[in-house]
Amino acid sequence: MKRVALLGATGSIGAQALEIVDSHPDLQFCAIAVGSRRDEAERLAAAHGIAHVSVGGDPPLDELVRASEPDVVLNAVVGFAGLPATLAALEDGIDLALANKESLVAAGDLALAALARGGGRILPVDSEHSAAFQCLHGRTAETVDSLVLTASGGPFRGRARAELASVTPDEALAHPTWRMGPKVTVDSATLMNKGLELIEAHFLFGLPYERIEVVVHPTSVVHALVRFRDGASLAHVGYPDMRVPISYALTYPERAATRVAPLDFSSGLVLEFEPPDEDAFPGLALARAAGEAGGTAPCLLNAANEVAVGEFLAGRLPFLGIAEVVERTLAAVAAPRVSSLDELIEVDCEARGAASTLSRELVH
Ligand code: MG
Repeated sequence: MKRVALLGATGSIGAQALEIVDSHPDLQFCAIAVGSRRDEAERLAAAHGIAHVSVGGDPPLDELVRASEPDVVLNAVVGFAGLPATLAALEDGIDLALANKESLVAAGDLALAALARGGGRILPVDSEHSAAFQCLHGRTAETVDSLVLTASGGPFRGRARAELASVTPDEALAHPTWRMGPKVTVDSATLMNKGLELIEAHFLFGLPYERIEVVVHPTSVVHALVRFRDGASLAHVGYPDMRVPISYALTYPERAATRVAPLDFSSGLVLEFEPPDEDAFPGLALARAAGEAGGTAPCLLNAANEVAVGEFLAGRLPFLGIAEVVERTLAAVAAPRVSSLDELIEVDCEARGAASTLSRELVH
């Protein structure tokens, strides 16, 4: 029996994880955490016989992880708030099924150091990284040429920059291929999601940024490709359905059955690829630059993006303002190297303050 701690139980990943665990006889929940809905947490705990429950950070997620003694932590918290649980799981050598990409973006160096000390594993749940992880399985580093992450292009693919000036949150939330929570859906519309995933991939797979490419692939059937030194490439293909990477991470290395249909080639699969439009969607280039700068630049990028997306969803910042706030925050705030979570939290707070001020300045 594998004990699962599910952090972020009421989100999109959480709901699909509940289905995966319920349908697998060797998986059981030992803990859940939800952001705010106590009634829902109590209902889930009663329905699944879960003893350890956290609501709104009470108890803190790192304490919940340690108290509930899981075999695997599924971190599906949204944003920087997922960081303490990521570090606690890695420090204690517990397998970490990571859907919270922001924690690896903001704290990649700290997370890798904790991983090395703890001796556990990171099992990516982000679909592209799960795909790459599977393509890389059993390969030695010297045989790998480069990694290709695919992006759907989001709801605004094909639009020029000028056409994005007045798009609304509702339009940004209408994702063409994936059903996900609001933060990641807006990130997909700006392509910042792919920027965060680029940084995530750098830390997960130890590849330099110049060997990680992003291509737009509108039907989201190919999730990632790995190019090898002999000219061969391996692709991971399947319908866009998060139950596949969630199940893979929770049942690794078993690859348990899911209810997801295998690909049907008779229905006319479309496999088209195009380069991203970095003029209309500057988030990707901003993320690449922050990743290459290193230190806490990715933490600043992530913090500013979280603030700006929140402002956009609240109707207080235009769509194009999101990347602008991120760019200006990176220019305004220093990005020192840090060696502890407390120092990183200070940098994150400073970036959030700057991003809030810059958001207000931008619209006045
Ligand atoms: Mg993804």
